[in-house]
Amino acid sequence: MNVDPKELSKFSDLAHRWWDPTSEFKPLHEINPLRLDWIDSHARLRGRDVLDVGCGGGLLAESMALRGATVKGIDLAQKPLMVAELHRQESGVGGLSYEEISAEALAVREPARYDRVTCMEMLEHVPDPASIVAACAALAAPGAHLFFSTISRTPKAYVFAILGAEYILKLLPRGTHDYEKFVTPAELAGFCRAAGLQVADIIGMQYNLLSKQYRLGGPTDVNYLLHAVKP
Ligand code: SAH
Repeated sequence: MNVDPKELSKFSDLAHRWWDPTSEFKPLHEINPLRLDWIDSHARLRGRDVLDVGCGGGLLAESMALRGATVKGIDLAQKPLMVAELHRQESGVGGLSYEEISAEALAVREPARYDRVTCMEMLEHVPDPASIVAACAALAAPGAHLFFSTISRTPKAYVFAILGAEYILKLLPRGTHDYEKFVTPAELAGFCRAAGLQVADIIGMQYNLLSKQYRLGGPTDVNYLLHAVKP
């Protein structure tokens, strides 16, 4: 199967802190409004069927459901999914469900089922990211919009995303990211095209060391997001 058990236990061990905005998941909390608005402005969420692949504790999935979409979140790590489900019950958000299943297996069960497919900060944690992109493409209905985000494999990404974030600023636990698994925008665009998708937009995401804030735009050589369409 296309999964690294060490990656799943990394996220499971920290799962109880997922919704704490001061925890190891602080960066995800901070980028969530940015990516949510970016997705919603490219393709309206309200009334749509959305699949969130590698949903973890449900930050993005729940926020998309709050925008009026019907959202299903999938992941292969049990504890983050339990945390996501508990948070859903507490917040009482409707139209939101979770399941422990791989993208590849769900693609066999529900081909061409979703209007929107999101897969954020996940591709850099799997052995075969192209297989995840292909599964996302298979899950998407004709005319659907897909959104991916990950980290590029450049010297700057090594300095910022690993040395800076894990060792100097300690925004993330050491070992969160593995340089070899980073995916360049050209590689991700290639995976999309090979899966029959059209790449519509790629945008960078920057972290300002002084203001300690993220923003969208600028170079795509560290964090970036990609929007694709299924013809
Ligand atoms: N997408 C969420 C969580 C990102 S953390 C967000 O951006 O807020 C990465 C997530 O990918 C973790 O929850 C981890 O369990 C999950 N993951 C890692 N490998 C996976 C795989 N092969 N299939 C599904 N999920 C996976």
